[in-house]
Amino acid sequence: MAVLMDGKQLAKKIRYNLRTECDELKKKGIKPKLAVIMVGNDNASKIYVKNKSKACQEVGIEFEEFLLDEDTTQEKLENLIEKLNQNEDVHGILLQSPIPKKLDINRAFEKISPSKDVDGFNPVNVGKLALNKDTFISCTPYGIMKMFEEYNIDLAGKHAVIVGRSNIVGKPLIQCILNKNATVTICHSKTKNLSKHTIEADVLVSAIGKPNFITADMVKDNSIVIDVGINRTEDGKIVGDVDFENVEKKTSYITPVPGGVGPMTIAMLINNVIKAAKTSKNLNE
Ligand code: NAP
Repeated sequence: MAVLMDGKQLAKKIRYNLRTECDELKKKGIKPKLAVIMVGNDNASKIYVKNKSKACQEVGIEFEEFLLDEDTTQEKLENLIEKLNQNEDVHGILLQSPIPKKLDINRAFEKISPSKDVDGFNPVNVGKLALNKDTFISCTPYGIMKMFEEYNIDLAGKHAVIVGRSNIVGKPLIQCILNKNATVTICHSKTKNLSKHTIEADVLVSAIGKPNFITADMVKDNSIVIDVGINRTEDGKIVGDVDFENVEKKTSYITPVPGGVGPMTIAMLINNVIKAAKTSKNLNE
């Protein structure tokens, strides 16, 4: 039977340890603070931001939300980022996506100071990750790597197949997994004969956003399956990309949805805010 990789439990443990670190920083006069910018009225974003705020409060991190109207301009958005870059009380800046299509999110990410870029989306940090240098790793791939670590999964020599090439999950995950000496294949919507690739995977990561997309016949026996997808079914249930019930039987390790990668993403955001606060005073070892 597969080992269920319990992201909820691991995230709780990580947050507990971060709370201690946060207390230590406060004793040194540093009050870790995260600023979150939201543009427009996306309902899913509101829930994500609320969850981030709750996690910050639990650890003792200050949290401030900046709401910009749907019709805000690129200039106003970038001015706000610049103000937060200059504010020494703010250690981490997060621009919640999506933002209205008329705005250029990548240009906005470029404006976030690399030292406050807790989501790891600034090109400087993306480049550092590619060079395997210490940096802010974007939170979902970082959370996945922490799960491998927790379950003593050595990636060296394994064939990892990632389905989905977004800038926030698939692409940074290539670097993370490659840095651990796995052989990496990346698939996307233009990949021909997808199951030919997935069936070869010792480690299969799905980050697509389609319920029950990964079926048992696409998965190798005894493989490790990481389900990043978060999909809401018609009856309001949250499910991943993987047909869990049938795939689970073939795997050695698998993440559930909910309770797998999701909670880890928020835990790693908190981790990155604490790292940013320490870096601001050269306290990182
Ligand atoms: P995204 O930007 O929409 O990217 C989806 C990726 O899947 C794209 O690369 C796309 O290929 C690929 N894809 C779509 N249909 C495919 C198909 N039929 N065959 C192969 N590849 C296909 O999505 P995202 O932001 O990365 O998110 C993906 C999922 O993960 C969503 O369900 C999202 O909610 C979830 N998510 C979860 C967390 C978490 O913390 N658990 C964090 C982030 C995202 P193309 O590039 O060719 O279009």
